Amino acid sequence: MTNPLPQGATIGIIGGGQLGRMLSVAAARLGFKSHIFEPGANPPAAQVADAVTTSGYDDAAALKAFATSVDVITYEFENIPTDALDIVEAIRPVHPRREALRVSQDRLVEKAFLSELGLKTAPFAAVDDAVDLAEAMQEIGLPAILKTRRFGYDGKGQARIMTTDDAEQALTDMAGAPSILEGFVDFSHEVSVIAARGVDGQVACFDPGENVHEGGILRTTTVPARLSTAQRTDAVLLAAQILNRLQYVGVMGVELFVTPKGLIVNEIAPRVHNSGHWTQNGCTVDQFEQHIRAVAGWPLGDGQRHSDVVMENLIGEDMDRVPEIAREPNAALHLYGKAETKPGRKMGHVNRVAKA
Ligand code: AMP
Repeated sequence: MTNPLPQGATIGIIGGGQLGRMLSVAAARLGFKSHIFEPGANPPAAQVADAVTTSGYDDAAALKAFATSVDVITYEFENIPTDALDIVEAIRPVHPRREALRVSQDRLVEKAFLSELGLKTAPFAAVDDAVDLAEAMQEIGLPAILKTRRFGYDGKGQARIMTTDDAEQALTDMAGAPSILEGFVDFSHEVSVIAARGVDGQVACFDPGENVHEGGILRTTTVPARLSTAQRTDAVLLAAQILNRLQYVGVMGVELFVTPKGLIVNEIAPRVHNSGHWTQNGCTVDQFEQHIRAVAGWPLGDGQRHSDVVMENLIGEDMDRVPEIAREPNAALHLYGKAETKPGRKMGHVNRVAKA
């Protein structure tokens, strides 16, 4: 096992959004410094980090200088260009490992990986053109969802196919990008497990949260989720299986569909996750601290939940309700300091807490 990072060490974080911001705060609480690498100007994390590099992922010199200035590197989003990773990885350790990024960056590779592990996924097939799509619809049946293999988030790059008449439009929506057709899963609700694995291989999972999406964007996460004891155990064990196979170090979000036939894995995110924000007020050690502990080679927190929480995302004009929310008892606000409110933009979240 590598030595735990000492006080005052610097954690490099690729990506300066709200996740990078909350990781920086957690790092500071443990006595670490953080250095953000982010192409966009004035990112939310810059307000709380010790250092910021504002450069593109194609700027090899900036990447080298960034990597040299930190002790370990992590990231807040999974679509880091491969060339940029090559550069920083040659200089400092990157956690979670590259393999986690390779698997999660491409929905087809991800589904194949999960299936190979023996986990259930929606039926799927690769689609590159109209011929593939016709074959895939035949094989999988309808309704189904066509998704781009890469760069999809918050429901973007997805088209539902209810009847064969929708096929042409769905293909047009993919704009020629390599895609995947997924059979529509008839789920009762969606849950996620936020799981962590340390450098020593120890795994700790937070209690699964129940997620409600609106327009493809996470609206609320509620803990405890509606799950039987067996389902809860199943969820945690399958998450551990994924982390162990990837020799993962850090926090991962595993999104699941709950169906009468068992839990079906929707997708994995190799980073702290929006559906884990409830842990900030529901657990002694939250997902951000847990991730920092993991990448710093520290022992993990145990993930125990001390309170029931409903996390609500504050999206776009939801920010108008902040003064009202601030007056609510037992409501913890977490705002991201974004200068401009835009429709669909995640501006903050509120954790409403009750005794468990
Ligand atoms: P994704 O970006 O793949 O997480 O999809 C966003 C949301 O679309 C999910 O949280 C589900 O609510 C819904 N969804 C995605 N894939 C499927 C599927 N195969 N069957 C049913 N619903 C889906």
